[in-house]
Amino acid sequence: MKEFKTILTDYINRRRYQRLQPLAALIDMDGTLYDSMGNHAEAWKRICDEEGLTVTRDEFFMYEGMTGAQTIDLIMQRCRNRHASSEECEALYRRKTEIFKELPPVNPMAGAKALTDLMKEVGMRRVLVTGSGQNSLLNRLEADYPGVFLPGMRVTSRDVTHGKPHPEPYIRGMQLAGVTPSQAIAIENAPLGVKSAATAGAFTVGVVTGPVPRTDLEAAGAAVVFDSMEECAEAFPQLLYEMLTL
Ligand code: MG
Repeated sequence: MKEFKTILTDYINRRRYQRLQPLAALIDMDGTLYDSMGNHAEAWKRICDEEGLTVTRDEFFMYEGMTGAQTIDLIMQRCRNRHASSEECEALYRRKTEIFKELPPVNPMAGAKALTDLMKEVGMRRVLVTGSGQNSLLNRLEADYPGVFLPGMRVTSRDVTHGKPHPEPYIRGMQLAGVTPSQAIAIENAPLGVKSAATAGAFTVGVVTGPVPRTDLEAAGAAVVFDSMEECAEAFPQLLYEMLTL
């Protein structure tokens, strides 16, 4: 990997930012804070099988970050050549959520607690920015990441008109944190999430936590990519230091 200093210098020149101030962390949930993507893909595959929609399990790793309705519409267009109705989206997403809850419980992603505790300790504002609306994970956040996300500091599928890869979720995250794009660092594991964050102007850290290769995260706009959340947590103090002393 290139030196952080080189990466950061190239980055601020490309973005025409004066400097980077790491005041806020905007953090994705599925595949970043929770090792949940396998279960999501499994649940999607099962409802599509029930509906006679032909899909592969792995394709859902590429759609990660989209809202449930967007995902259903995409598959409906491909398999049935038409848009999904809002009733279909609602019914299928409800069923997908039920199946997700029946699957073995997901664990927090290794390294994620160390990273978010560090962000808290150094005083960065933290905002959750997720395409999910599933309470089974949203309701666990405080237990698994105590004190990391203060009340109201979350953007979910219920708060946006356009899901990732549209920049709206991350723009709203910046608004909640009260920061400008050059003051925000986003943490993401999925190409569409990276695209959303990078388009919103955040310094976007990509983390490989599943079958999606690092080249896809780089192509989507990640400024730096780590091979695990543990590696990200370990390197984060250095990244902050280089930002502050650039
Ligand atoms: Mg994710």
